Amino acid sequence: MQLVVHYHEIALKGKNRDMFVKRLIANLRKAFQDIGRIAVRSLFGRIVFRVDCEDLEEIDRRMSGVFGVANYSAVREIEQNFDAIAQAAWEVCRESGAKTFVVRCSRPDKSFPMRSLDVEREVGAYVLKCASAERYPLRVSLKEAEMTVRIEIVNRMALVSGAKRLGPGGLPVGTGGRLVGMLSSGFDSPVACWNMMKRGAEVVMCHFHSYPFTNRASLDNCIRIAEILTRYQFRSRLYLVGFAPVQEELLSLTPADMRMILYRRSMVRIAEKIARRVGAEALVTGESLGQVASQTLTNLAVIDDACHLPMLRPLIGADKEEIMTKARQIGTYETSSLPYEDCCSLMLSQHPVTRAELDSVLRIEHALKLEELEERVIGEAEVLQLSWHGNGECARKTLQEPNYGEADNYVNLGSCACSLD
Ligand code: ATP
Ligand code: MG
Repeated sequence: MQLVVHYHEIALKGKNRDMFVKRLIANLRKAFQDIGRIAVRSLFGRIVFRVDCEDLEEIDRRMSGVFGVANYSAVREIEQNFDAIAQAAWEVCRESGAKTFVVRCSRPDKSFPMRSLDVEREVGAYVLKCASAERYPLRVSLKEAEMTVRIEIVNRMALVSGAKRLGPGGLPVGTGGRLVGMLSSGFDSPVACWNMMKRGAEVVMCHFHSYPFTNRASLDNCIRIAEILTRYQFRSRLYLVGFAPVQEELLSLTPADMRMILYRRSMVRIAEKIARRVGAEALVTGESLGQVASQTLTNLAVIDDACHLPMLRPLIGADKEEIMTKARQIGTYETSSLPYEDCCSLMLSQHPVTRAELDSVLRIEHALKLEELEERVIGEAEVLQLSWHGNGECARKTLQEPNYGEADNYVNLGSCACSLD
């Protein structure tokens, strides 16, 4: 099938345009990589694209993962000849089964002798004539047509297309820099990472877990979520960081009601170190104002203090219902619903502080050996590379083998488990 893909012009001003279009074409190729021959050309602000697939539903599914596609439609590419154009327009109308239609023409290639308005009027008349000859009930409706036949006169050829199908919008992944996404296996953080991918960022994902002190559920859920998100950026790197050594150290001195904030600050420092290694320029989290105690403005500021990179929180103003609806749309809802033991809930008070004081936090941290441990857990993390294969499958490659140690080594984690308020 031959398709014409439109992208939003707005992002394309100036020098970035070529980079944007090249990336969009590369991403289209990745989304359709397993479908056979793909031919792609960029023509006057649109992309013409031929794939060995006639199944529009399958094409829809794949297009929904290519950010930057505003809309697309099946297209006929024909010579720049009025009779050929008019005949193609009639065929598009007849095949659609519509009862009302309108013709719209754009003519970036000014070498074609007719003006756009004349093409619209004369092609419309031709279509009506053919319809009446075949006793097909069809009329023109300028305002509420069921079918818009689009004619684009480009580069010494003409493109004739029918119904527009909506793409996901946004900007092509790879045009917006790189981020480290802090990914739990809850509902929020996958949606936050997806939001940033939609703005063109590539997200390196980072998950903290307490294995072997807990079971592997949060790791396995997270790997699955990362695979689902890889559909939108085609290749992902996932850091699975064993957080138990840091928790073990924090537990030696920290009051239970401050642990959440200390865990978060440590996670953010580790994520920042990973960001520096992979060339990422900011962190992204799924925090939403007031959702839990660690997400008050006071506590968010104390968390921010631990990081020198921008902390992006695309969901800060969203409520849970909106986030769940989005999670359903992007495909992470079911995996996020699965049970897991969260490393953050380990050894936490039922009543964490809602207004942490930075001075007390810094005093506690100063008395601990966190810096060294935070460096160590990155070296011991499991690092995976996930590659999207187009057909729903993801290939997994281990870039770094984990070294998580034995559960028995965690004396504080073991003994604190039953001593909470
Ligand atoms: P989510 O917010 O993803 O639904 P959650 O509600 O269990 O998970 P919160 O307590 O809301 O987690 O955590 C706030 C944010 O901190 C998360 O959105 C995520 O970005 C980050 N975060 C929390 N736990 C982890 C973890 N185990 N690994 C990586 N990041 C985490
Ligand atoms: Mg949350």
